Amino acid sequence: MSQQTKQLTLALSKGRIFDDTLPLLQAAGITVTEDPETSRKLILQTTDAALRVIIVRASDVPTYVQYGAADFGVAGKDVLIEHGGEGLYQPVDLQIAKCRMSVAVEEGFDYASAVRHGARLRVATKYVEIARRHFASKGVHVDLIKLYGSMELAPLVGLSDVIVDLVSTGNTLRANRLVEVEKIMDISSRLIVNQAAFKLKREYLQPILAAFEAASLNVI
Ligand code: AMP
Repeated sequence: MSQQTKQLTLALSKGRIFDDTLPLLQAAGITVTEDPETSRKLILQTTDAALRVIIVRASDVPTYVQYGAADFGVAGKDVLIEHGGEGLYQPVDLQIAKCRMSVAVEEGFDYASAVRHGARLRVATKYVEIARRHFASKGVHVDLIKLYGSMELAPLVGLSDVIVDLVSTGNTLRANRLVEVEKIMDISSRLIVNQAAFKLKREYLQPILAAFEAASLNVI
């Protein structure tokens, strides 16, 4: 078997997904030997010479895996729905980086009444596909405004009536006088695997996937 086939690349994003994946790697007997928060490196070595970790933006993880630049990765359900999931196996819900996707409004905005009266809502979000599906299923007409960050600002300065964003503790919403009015779905992160790698590198991937799956069952 060629060296290429033995080398595995795992795509992760910095922050919660990286932090929550470390114990899963540990369960497979693997330690990442560099910290992406202090090192500026984008390719990190591990104690397993056959496995390296690449650090990419959360929304880019499915793309790296889809094209085979990474053999596998960890991505939130939100990111996978927005990406579409093409060319990816999604064998395991790792039950990490849990939060929820919700609709939020500025304090005092009567969301229920606006929906009841069939108002056309301006929705600011990074998650346009999730928002589109959600409001279509409710029969609410919306204008979707794509943002890349700081969604909480949009209703406060009149850019939108509502936002669709990830909520964990609710602190960010509260700090900006926003109120969560509807949960769209629970979110957690999934293991994703390139379809070709799943077949060609099965021998090397399988033990890691099994360890991730077993460890994630203990997280629940
Ligand atoms: P919180 O203040 O704890 O409710 O967190 C909300 C902020 O953190 C928002 O800006 C979210 O976009 C972000 N956030 C919360 N949970 C996650 C997650 N699991 N993945 C990515 N971003 C998150």
